[in-house]
This record gives sequence, C-alpha cells and structure tokens, in this order.
Amino acid sequence: MKALVIEDSQTGLALIGQHLERMGIVPIEATDGESGVAAFREHNPDIVLLDVVMPGMDGYEVARRIRAIEQSGEWTPIIFLTARTADADLVQGITAGGDDYLFKPVSEVVLAAKVRAMQRILQMRYSLVVLTRKLDTANQELTRLTALDGLTGLANRRHFDETIAREWRRAARYKRPLSLALVDVDYFKQYNDTYGHLAGDECLKSVAGSLLAVSRRPSDLVARYGGEEFALVLPETDQAGARRVAESLCDAIRALAIRHAGIAAGTGHVTISVGVATMMPGQEGAGPQSLIGEADLALYAAKSGGRDRVGFRQAEPVAG
Ligand code: GH3
Ligand code: MG
Ligand code: MG
Ligand code: MG
Repeated sequence: MKALVIEDSQTGLALIGQHLERMGIVPIEATDGESGVAAFREHNPDIVLLDVVMPGMDGYEVARRIRAIEQSGEWTPIIFLTARTADADLVQGITAGGDDYLFKPVSEVVLAAKVRAMQRILQMRYSLVVLTRKLDTANQELTRLTALDGLTGLANRRHFDETIAREWRRAARYKRPLSLALVDVDYFKQYNDTYGHLAGDECLKSVAGSLLAVSRRPSDLVARYGGEEFALVLPETDQAGARRVAESLCDAIRALAIRHAGIAAGTGHVTISVGVATMMPGQEGAGPQSLIGEADLALYAAKSGGRDRVGFRQAEPVAG
C-alpha cells in the first residue's frame, strides 16, 4: 500500500512518514500542490494525506485536481491535514472532494484508525465494483438468451419482431427493398408421428443449422418463427435476390436428406416450403405486418402448389 503525503512543512512530513512506515505503508512525499498532483499521476497511491494550507496551490485545489484526474469509477480516499477547527473549513474540504480530516499534529493512533477505516471502505467499494461487473455480464447473457430460441439457438420470435420492425424503418428511410422468406417444414406432423417428438426436435435443429448456413450476409436474420416455421429477414435484398435465397434454402434442406418415410407421396426426405415477399417500405399505411402477410400468402401458394418449393404471391390487379 502507498500513501501520498502532500505537506509543505518538513517536520510534519517527516512525522507522518514515520507513522506510515510503522503501519507498513510506503509514504510518497510532496512538499507543494503542483508536485503533489504530479506525484498522484505518477504513483497512483491508495490514499492521499493532504495539507490544507500550502503556498501556491492549496489543499482544496489539489483535491479538486485529483478528483478530475481520476477515471470514472475510480476513487482514492483523501484525508485533509489541518490545524484549523473551524466548521467552514471542514465543509470546504468535503466539497472539494475530501473524505476525512486529521488535526495537526497528527496522532499516530488516529491516523492508523482512519487509514484502516478508509481501507475498509475501499475494500467494500472494490467488492461492489466486482459485483457490478458480474451483474453486467449476467445481464448481457440474459439479454442474449431472451433473444434466442431454446431448441435451435436461432433468434426467437421476439427478436424477429424487433428486427423486422427496425429493418422496415431503415428500408423506408433509405428507400431500399426489404425481403422476407417464411419457411415451413412439409408434413412435419407426420414426421413426429412416425419418428417421435424427440426425433422431430433433432430434425428442427438440423433444418435450423442449414437455414443459417445459407444466409450469408451479416445483416440477414434467421429466426424460429414458431413451431416448425422459420423466417429469414433479408435487408437490402430485391425480389430476384430473395428468390435465389429461397431456392437455396430448399436445396439445402433437400441436401440434408433427412429420411421421412411417413408420407406416401413425396421425396422420402424432409423438405420445406418457402414463401417470399419483397417490398419497398415507405408506402402509405404499410408496415412490417403487410410484408409478413404477403410472405404468408406466398407460403400458402408453395404448399398448395405441391410443397418442396418456393412460392410467390400472384400479383393482384390494382383496384380502381
Ligand atoms: P404442412 O406440410 O402442411 O406444413 O404439414 P405439417 O404437418 O408440417 O403442418 P401442421 O401445422 O399440421 O403440423 C406442424 C407440426 O409441427 C405439428 C407439431 O406437433 C409440430 N411441431 C411444432 N413445433 C414442434 C417442436 O418444437 N418440436 C417437434 N418435435 N414438433 C413440433
Ligand atoms: Mg501547511
Ligand atoms: Mg406450419
Ligand atoms: Mg409444416
């Protein structure tokens, strides 16, 4: 432990130095305010003993400078050394950033008690800092977990809702296209019925992994929309791009070749149907919900068209 003693009187300095050394504390000595502040910067002491009355920069100013040097969250106890007993001086010292007082001549017993008290506060403060850091980490982890789907590790529905709303606003602001692909596993009820729910879960994990592998752009979001449905938010992606991504998704799931013997008609493997929609946000009254609605209709088209394919919504004739 190091104590910085800033005191213009050589006798006072020597006396306090001796007291400190007997306590096993290394004294760093300065005889005026300027060199005291410099020593504080250089030595980063654990405690500062600071004379109030000094020629040039007085103790109050030194205390203010020290508080200004400290990084946020840092705190070095400052004990003022004063011969005065006037209440106003004590108040001024605390206001300047001091923590406690010692009257001169400094008594070794009182000095030892006060240093110990400050050490105790420092220790509690340190524990608090450690605790706060642990809480921060736990909070970050919690935030991360509340955005994730427990089974697949993909973004969950909540995260999806937030993302599509944000991307919609961004696309509207920059007048850029926004695409959405809704994915639904084909005949998945029969998969569960044939292989069991646990195998069904494993299948969903594999599908999730493949969807994630297909989406390449860092701004793409792959989410579990619910049950055996997934959603890909594709910012900055036009209709042609979105269709290509959707076709790749179907290809990737076919390539997984997860056996599905539950369906009489079919490929014998797990497949997906994908509905894609692209919009230029910013149109009057439209919101992310309209994009989801479009993609849902497109998904329905893929299902009714025979599954294992990408669906598009037929363009409706413009009314009026
Ligand atoms: P379609 O081709 O028309 O999509 O038929 P489908 O059987 O996939 O559709 P349906 O909506 O009838 O059934 C979805 C099934 O997905 C029913 C449900 O038990 C299953 N499912 C939903 N979530 C999970 C899950 O987390 N784990 C498992 N194992 N199954 C799930
Ligand atoms: Mg003095
Ligand atoms: Mg479904
Ligand atoms: Mg399904």
